[in-house]
Amino acid sequence: MKHRNKVFDNVLDLVGNTPLVRLNKITSKLKGNFYAKVESFNPGHSSKDRIALYIIEQAEKKGILTPGDTIIETTSGNTGFSIAMVSIIKGYDCVLAVSSKSSPDKIDMLKTMGAKVYVCPAHVSADDPRSYYEVAKRLHSEIKGSVYINQYFNQLNIDAHYKSTGPEIWEQTEGKVTHLVACSGTGGTISGTAKYLKEQNPDIKIIGVDAFGSVIKKYHETREFDEKEIYPYRIEGLGKNLIPTATDFDVIDEFVKVTDEDSAHTARLIAKSEGMFVGYTSGAVTQAILQLGEEGRFKKDDYVVVIFPDHGARYMSKVYSDKWMNEQGFFDSKNEAAAQNIQY
Ligand code: PMP
Repeated sequence: MKHRNKVFDNVLDLVGNTPLVRLNKITSKLKGNFYAKVESFNPGHSSKDRIALYIIEQAEKKGILTPGDTIIETTSGNTGFSIAMVSIIKGYDCVLAVSSKSSPDKIDMLKTMGAKVYVCPAHVSADDPRSYYEVAKRLHSEIKGSVYINQYFNQLNIDAHYKSTGPEIWEQTEGKVTHLVACSGTGGTISGTAKYLKEQNPDIKIIGVDAFGSVIKKYHETREFDEKEIYPYRIEGLGKNLIPTATDFDVIDEFVKVTDEDSAHTARLIAKSEGMFVGYTSGAVTQAILQLGEEGRFKKDDYVVVIFPDHGARYMSKVYSDKWMNEQGFFDSKNEAAAQNIQY
């Protein structure tokens, strides 16, 4: 890491330059070489530090934001935490409209970081006045001098990753990367990173990970919004019930879908096999490479980079709680060993 052995003025200087770590055991049955970009090494413990800092600094440069102003956002938690962190250092008020699907730990963390949090129902349509999109829009119109980050529809979300995550991966792999596999929520991470990597080498395959219950994969294949694809699912931060303009569908070659249950078990397996305590979507992206690998999609010399978006501590009451796993019916006979907490 570039950071080591330095002294910093504040935590914002630690955003980005996250390590790329080889996956050794969990992918041992697959052909290919697999590396995880571990975004929990950011000071706010997720990839969202990159976009929060970048978008806020762009607004400052344009003179839109001055200290004392309010920053508003809709967020599943991570972006909110990052915006709250940046707001503390730079002297802004932070107001967040959050989905009720977010874990209680995440909501408590946001409050701890000084944010004002509005919890909005998860299973209403995006245009419902109770949805977190509509609540954020209303607050933006009500609070004078406020800025709405709007990560799902903000091109700067893509630019942040184009300027940081992409170049870092290219440099860290010394240009050897052959595949990028990443979760798509707003789509900013995969789109910006992919755009940069494809400019260096158009042959790099870009694979997005989507949830069952999300419209993203079908939209990529048909360019049509199919409401029938939408139903409730549990993974936070992955997939969507609308089409974000922060997703550049043209730079993504294909999408793979993963289930809540498989992703949960794979997240737990990453901890037990690699010693990495990462979030639910890190389980999802690893589940995707396991599925692709089993289909024989990787070759011996392939250099596959996956993005682990956040830290496991944010999911203690969910995927890392045996009680929660049981309640979801994820500890069935197939996974009896896990139910008894026997080693994988
Ligand atoms: N994983 C988690 C935990 C997230 O919070 C997000 C962001 N919603 C993602 C993955 C997906 O990142 P992006 O929004 O850049 O597509």
